[in-house]
Formats: sequence, structure tokens, C-alpha cells
Amino acid sequence: MADEARPRVLVLRCRACRTLLPAASNDVAFRCPQCGRSWEIEGDELSERPSSYVLPPPGVREVIYLPYWSFALTANATPRTLDESTLRARDRATSLTRAFVSAYAIYRPTYVGEWGLVYTRAQPKWETRQGHGPQSPGAAITSSDAKAIAHHYILAEIDRAADLGLLDVRVELGTPELWAIPCSDLGEVVRCPWTRGELPAAALDDLSQIRPAAERREA
Ligand SMILES: [Zn+2]
Repeated sequence: MADEARPRVLVLRCRACRTLLPAASNDVAFRCPQCGRSWEIEGDELSERPSSYVLPPPGVREVIYLPYWSFALTANATPRTLDESTLRARDRATSLTRAFVSAYAIYRPTYVGEWGLVYTRAQPKWETRQGHGPQSPGAAITSSDAKAIAHHYILAEIDRAADLGLLDVRVELGTPELWAIPCSDLGEVVRCPWTRGELPAAALDDLSQIRPAAERREA
């Protein structure tokens, strides 16, 4: 029988170290729990994505990590008419160098808030590491969807300074990177250690998957 007559089965195993990837049913990208490299399903293959994790601030307890798509970017907003707001928009565009889009499954994100947008606004200067490190749940949205969302975030940020109609805007987003960003698991809520913002734990689809992973790490 010809090969193409059989459906191909994609085995979710790290291509670098052969460890089975922790996959919930809706996940499309994964951080390897063993070697820390990241893989995204593309067709019937796994493609590698640059993978990083952020160091938590000192003193933060009950740390768990959530997945985010992260993009280096350059944004330029050239004013069509010069005034205070368009000059502010021009400077704001230049100040945006990285965009974040939360990749975990969440119920009612418009209600509970989107930390990717918060981080994109804040432009944090985080210390990152590569390689073996924390476990984190898989990404439930694709990097190409995240890229489109990141583009919207950047435009919305520039538009806060001046109407986009008064500007010629150019945004270039780099390679999608899968980042694991820490927060504190406080039981009923998870809390961002930088903004002190909180998400109800019940809104996080994969939290039950993350918590056993955290317990295994501490064992
Ligand atoms: Zn691996």
C-alpha cells in the first residue's frame, strides 16, 4: 500500500532529545520539559522555535510559568502632519521593541485581561535564559495567529498617542519565539510579580496541567 494512503501520525516527541512533549488536546506548540527547546506543529511536522524563559524577580514564591509568543520588532510612525500628538506617536513607535501575546488557553480574555498586551505596553527589560529550565504548558494559539495579534497590539499602542490616519506606520515583526514567563500561583488567582495584576485561576484552562508539573519539579 502506498504511504500516502495511510494517515501520518505526528509523534509529539522533542526532535532534539526525544523526550515526549507535554501536550493538552488544543496545544499547537510546546516547550520540551527536558531540554527547553520549543516546537510548533506545522502541517505534519514539528518546527523549532527560539525558546527562552524569564527569570522571576527575587523573593517571588510559588512560581509557575505561562507560555507567551514573543516577537522582536521595529515600528516606525512617520507623521503626515507635525503636532504634539503625532510626534509623541512617532517616539512611542520607536520605543516598542518587543511584543508579547499570551499563548495559554484562557476563558473570556477580554474580561480577565490579556497580559501579553500589558507586557507589550510596559516593554519590560527582563533577564532571559535558554535551555533546560522551567516547565510550562503548551501554546494553544499558533505563532502566525499570535503574529497578527501582536501587529494589532502595536498599532493600538501607537493609536493611543495619535490617530493612525495622521501617520504612515510600518511594523516589522521578527521570528516567533516561545517564552515561558513566571507568575505566582496563589491558589484562587495567579499574580504577575511585576504588575501585581491577577488572573482568576479558574480562567486558566491548563492550570491543572501546570500545577502537577510544578510539584514534580519541586519533588
Ligand atoms: Zn528536548
